[in-house]
Amino acid sequence: MSPNAGLKDVQGKSLPEASIPALELASVSYAYGKRQALDDISFSIPPGRFAVLLGLNGAGKTTLFSLISHLFATRKGRIHVFGHEINRRPGDALRRLGIVFQARTLDLDLSVHQNLSYHASLHGIGTREANQRIDELLQSIDMSDRLHEKARSLSGGQIRRVEIIRALLHQPSLLLLDEATVGLDIKSRATILADIRKLVHDNGISVLWATHLIDEVNHADQVIVLDRGRLVANGSVNDVVKAAGGTTINEAFSRLTGIVALNPGHRP
Ligand code: ATP
Repeated sequence: MSPNAGLKDVQGKSLPEASIPALELASVSYAYGKRQALDDISFSIPPGRFAVLLGLNGAGKTTLFSLISHLFATRKGRIHVFGHEINRRPGDALRRLGIVFQARTLDLDLSVHQNLSYHASLHGIGTREANQRIDELLQSIDMSDRLHEKARSLSGGQIRRVEIIRALLHQPSLLLLDEATVGLDIKSRATILADIRKLVHDNGISVLWATHLIDEVNHADQVIVLDRGRLVANGSVNDVVKAAGGTTINEAFSRLTGIVALNPGHRP
């Protein structure tokens, strides 16, 4: 029997496996006390899609990730990961999910191997299997020679790449990355983004990539725009541009989020 047999959508209708969204949010809201961080958010991402969650500081991206990853309980609305409701079946949902948080989360006093094997054991992966996956993944980012070095000795970009392969160790089907390229130089940014896009293309993994950097959007991406806790656009780049009434995604994002040019007189 398929592991997804009997899955239902947010309205309770039975779904064939191929039509189950990688991620589905229905009317999700969240408040910190009186501060409304997310207000009635609904969207879905199909399997094998690269989706960009675009939003300025304070838009609600990290709060959304905290709900999807079950760090916070969803009190209003529902979240399904490959058909598994995160509040009701957190184990099934979290098994399909890999997460790279905005804040650095490697233990700097442990080696690369120790950081990775600890994560593998949390997911119940045996030592031999874990070591094989660690070797293969480190090779794929050209960092095999750093296996026994302390995380402290790595550059910011290398730490990020180790965090990404750590998130992939348990072979998730949906990867969430929160501002994964913040603070990195242009070459590291491009390398990380290209690696993640390759995963989508080669392995059919689904990605939700949160960023405020408009140049990280590709023409074929799904774009979800958050502004001060509200979803203001969702669709293809063309859909979003059309909905905002602009001519480029850059202009559309500025219109949707009310960005005022820093230096209006400047002509590059
Ligand atoms: P950034 O890119 O700056 O991290 P973000 O899009 O991830 O922004 P969030 O961090 O989710 O946005 O914040 C959304 C809103 O919730 C903001 O108004 C923020 O001030 C508020 N907020 C976030 N965390 C808390 C908290 N722990 N307590 C109170 N308010 C919070």
